[in-house]
Amino acid sequence: MTTAKLTIDLKALTANWHALNRLSGCETGAVVKANAYGLGIDRVAPALAAEGAREFFVAVAEEGVALRRVLGSGPRISVFSGHMPGDADMIGQANLTPMINSVDQMIGHVETLPGHPFGIQLNTGMNRLGMDPAEWSALRDIALSQNPVMVISHLACADDPGHPMNAAQLEVFREMTAGVEVPLSLSATGGILLGKDYHFDLTRPGIGLYGGLPFIDARPVITLDLPVIQVRDVDQGDSVGYSCAWTAARPSQIATVSGGYADGLIRAMGSGATLTHEGRKLPVVGRVSMDLITVDVTDLDDTPAQLQLIGQHQSVDTIAKFAGTIGYEILTSLSARYDRVYLT
Ligand SMILES: *Cc1c(COP(=O)(O)O)cnc(C)c1O
Repeated sequence: MTTAKLTIDLKALTANWHALNRLSGCETGAVVKANAYGLGIDRVAPALAAEGAREFFVAVAEEGVALRRVLGSGPRISVFSGHMPGDADMIGQANLTPMINSVDQMIGHVETLPGHPFGIQLNTGMNRLGMDPAEWSALRDIALSQNPVMVISHLACADDPGHPMNAAQLEVFREMTAGVEVPLSLSATGGILLGKDYHFDLTRPGIGLYGGLPFIDARPVITLDLPVIQVRDVDQGDSVGYSCAWTAARPSQIATVSGGYADGLIRAMGSGATLTHEGRKLPVVGRVSMDLITVDVTDLDDTPAQLQLIGQHQSVDTIAKFAGTIGYEILTSLSARYDRVYLT
């Protein structure tokens, strides 16, 4: 087997959900958009449902349809993009709950699916999705008379507890929902960590479930082991890989492992990145190529069958820093080519 092995620890995932649920002190949902952040919705969502998660969130209706097949009837599936033209059949048949983002969406929803459950998404300052304060005050009474199941908004800077935007958005959310007697939801992972003022009736963690920052106490969920295909000795002055980007400063031993940018191990990771073996850090040398990475293993006594990129010794966020990105992007880029193994 030469494909890399991605191990997904569902026990760690559900432990993270329980930990965030305890911190929330209210109903805790689960955001499983983008195929559960790349980890596999068909395994992740049932594991969370079995532990008591009842509120699931996806980005678009198509994801909701796939999730309904996995979960069956019962859990609520809410769609952040709301009700887009052409979505009515999917929303109706899969019993999805669109988070209505505008007057136009509201009109489309009540015309195509009268009486079908919906929520409202408000823009409290992120300026990405949701109704602006003026739009909301015009529509508010009509919308509330149609019995929305929840009113939500989203924080722009919750990963930075000291950012003044957090309190500003909280204030706007409070103003916009004053007197609204419908369950309220403001916080994703970052907002849960900001404390109970931010929790309202329902929280919506995503990244923290999957072991990523800003949930610093998360249990790691994934391990990524890359098989060693070949090991060779190179002389001082020999170069390795495309563009001769690395030259051996000493006689060296180079391991070539299976995995590259086609597997989401983005090329920008290149220099400065390490793989590990039993906790020892081994530098990546030369360019990351499509299917292969070269690693300096000179300092190991013998070369193992595989080297680890993500796991106990290097978190998803550490890898992300190598590439100048965030854990979210590393997770959602994980390759379909990996051999996925689920620990239950
Ligand atoms: C993605 C998303 C979440 C989950 O965010 P995390 O930072 O991954 O916890 C919650 N709410 C909305 C609206 C989102 O888009």
